[in-house]
This record gives sequence, structure tokens and C-alpha cells, in this order.
Amino acid sequence: MVELNPYDWIDRSLETIERANWYRSTQVIASLPGTEVAIDGRKLLNFGSNDYLGLAGDDRVIRAAMAATHQFGTGSTGSRLTSGHKQLHEDLEQAIARLKGTEAALVFSSGYLANLGTIAALASKRDLILSDRSNHSSLKNGALLSGATVIEYKHGDVDDLRQQLQVHRTSYRRCLIITDTVFSMDGDICPLPDILVLSIEYAAMLLLDEAHATGIFGTTGAGVVEHYNCGGKPLVEIGTLSKAIGSLGGYVAGSFSLINFLKNRCASWIYTTGLSPADTAAALTSIEIISTTPQLQQQLWANVADLKQLFIDRLPDLPLIPSASPIICLELPDAQTALTMGNKLKQAGIFAPAIRPPTVPTSRIRLSLMATHQRSQLEQLVDAIETIWG
Ligand code: PMP
Repeated sequence: MVELNPYDWIDRSLETIERANWYRSTQVIASLPGTEVAIDGRKLLNFGSNDYLGLAGDDRVIRAAMAATHQFGTGSTGSRLTSGHKQLHEDLEQAIARLKGTEAALVFSSGYLANLGTIAALASKRDLILSDRSNHSSLKNGALLSGATVIEYKHGDVDDLRQQLQVHRTSYRRCLIITDTVFSMDGDICPLPDILVLSIEYAAMLLLDEAHATGIFGTTGAGVVEHYNCGGKPLVEIGTLSKAIGSLGGYVAGSFSLINFLKNRCASWIYTTGLSPADTAAALTSIEIISTTPQLQQQLWANVADLKQLFIDRLPDLPLIPSASPIICLELPDAQTALTMGNKLKQAGIFAPAIRPPTVPTSRIRLSLMATHQRSQLEQLVDAIETIWG
């Protein structure tokens, strides 16, 4: 029997989402980005941002965005291959390539689009994609879009990856391994050196999502590739301009041929409007700041060490997910507990979002640190968790 209203199912679906405590909604942040944010008329300590270096609210970055807007307008007005290409885009791409130590780079409108389009351009029906089970949605959906056979290997498990390569590699024309380098909802990092060895042994392309690593890992902030000294290899390095870089947009860094190929074959780059002058200039200025101010990175890692030590000293039994990054997650038994914990933290003046399925397999509170957090703010966070945790 056909339903009379073809949209009724949407409300039923929403009811199911609500019943599972998976319902999500937005909340207004009514202040500049920073370690404190205004929510619902209250000032809260911010442990929920990806602005790891505090650059999204930095005066120099804001001024660069304003100057570019005055000079070039608010929109790029066309795709990069038609009327939307500016010298600013080229300058940013060169700055990214310099930061990453690659021949070239290509800027996208978002990191999501960079992953989606690049993966779909590099693999197709006759190919195999091996994907870490905990990869970001943009990698997973890029793999689906490509039409390749997708096999998920166990999270961070090199033995399982080797096993999959041994069994399946020869049945396919090309193979692409895809992984986040920093896993955004756990805070751990991928075993890159071992994955790189396997990719070479099995003649597989290796695509890395450095979204949560760029600007943070490695001595110059190039990412986990630099952290593990794996630079100079034929990699496809993807990332975002929206986290430590504090702007908006994404990028791919790699060889000249890879970048030229994407300019000709990557639909999510070709058929979309070029990044706005403001976002482009902001990212360019942030990268300059990152390259000339290693103290920012040092301050971030000092905060990570301080917070971890505070947890060890004061809350040794707190169920923290093992982390090697500024993302520290408190694992909770279910979605309702995570929501309650998030609300109690908010009442105590702390903003730290509850992350629930289907984003992650188990519910948690995700804390992310910034270089600009003060020691007193870290202590305030631990005080609040101690009071709530009991
Ligand atoms: N990859 C990862 C690992 C991410 O966490 C995100 C953003 N949440 C993206 C890609 C997408 O980046 P963007 O926000 O620039 O679309």
C-alpha cells in the first residue's frame, strides 16, 4: 500500500533517532573563536574546537581576510578553471607545498570535498580500496563514490592490512590505501611507517588525511608524515584549512603529475567555485604564522602534557581513550550518559561536546586542546570533571 504523504517517513525516522538519543542539533556560538566562547548568553571554557593553535580568532589572520575581501571581493565568482582563479590561490598552494615538502598542492573548497573527489578520481571499478575502519566520513564516502571494491581493515591494525593485501591485491588493477593520520574521534595516530612499507611492497597508492595533524605534528608542523620522517615518498597527502590553520577549505599535496591529474579529473575541484579570497588569504597568513612561530606548537604540546598529567594525578581511573594528539576522549557507556555528562559540564562552565553513534561506535566526551589554553583553564576543566565524576 503506497503512503499518501511521501514525506511521512522522515518524521518517523527522526522519532527513531530521538529514541536512541542520537538526535543532533546546532547551538549558536556568539563570540570570536578562542578558549572562551559565548553560548546561550553564558561564557564557557572551550574544549570543543579544532582551532588547535588559536589562529581562527588571530588578529593578523582576520586582517588578512578583510584585506583580501576589500581587494578581491567576497566570492571567487567562478570555478578555478573558468573565472575563479586568483594569484592568492597559487600563493596558498605554493605555501602548502612548501610546508608539506611536496612538488605541488591543490586547494579545495573543503577538506571533505578534497577527500571525496581525490579518492573518486584515483580509483574506480577495477580497483581495490583498503580503508581503516575508523576513517573519517569523507574518506569512506569517497571510497563509495569511486565504485572500487572497498575493504575495511581493523583500526590501526597493520597485520590485518597485510593480510587483506596478501589475499586480495592481485585480483585488482590498482590499489589505494586510505587512512586518517590522526583519528579525530579517538585521538590516536596511524602506524604510518609500517603502512608505508606495505604500500611499497604491494604497489599500492597511499592516501593520508592529515586534517588533525597539519600545523601540529612534525617539527615544522607538516603533519604526521614529518613526525615519522616519512616525507619525500610518493604519497597523496590531504588535509583541511579549517582546523589548526583556522580558515576554511581543503588541500591535496603531492607530485606535479598528481596535482595536474586532479585538475583534469577531480569533479569536486573542477565543478565548484574557487575558495573565497578571504578564506584563501586567511589560510596563507596562518601558514606563515605556523612556519615562523614554532612556539605555538610547543605551547599546544605543553598543554597536552599538562592535562594528561592532571588526569593521572587527580583522576587516575577516568576511562580515557589512548591518545597521541590534542584530542582526548572520555569513553562513556551510552549516548544518554554522554549527553548528561556534556550538559553537566556545560552547567559547570565547560563546553565539550558529547559524540555519539553513528559518528563513533561508542559514546564519549571529546576534549580538544588549544595552544592558547591557560594552565588555570586546564585545572578548571579537571575540577569540573572531578566534581561530576565523583
Ligand atoms: N577529515 C577529517 C579527519 C576531519 O575530521 C574533517 C572535518 N571534520 C574533514 C576531513 C573535513 O574537513 P573540512 O571540515 O575542511 O570539510
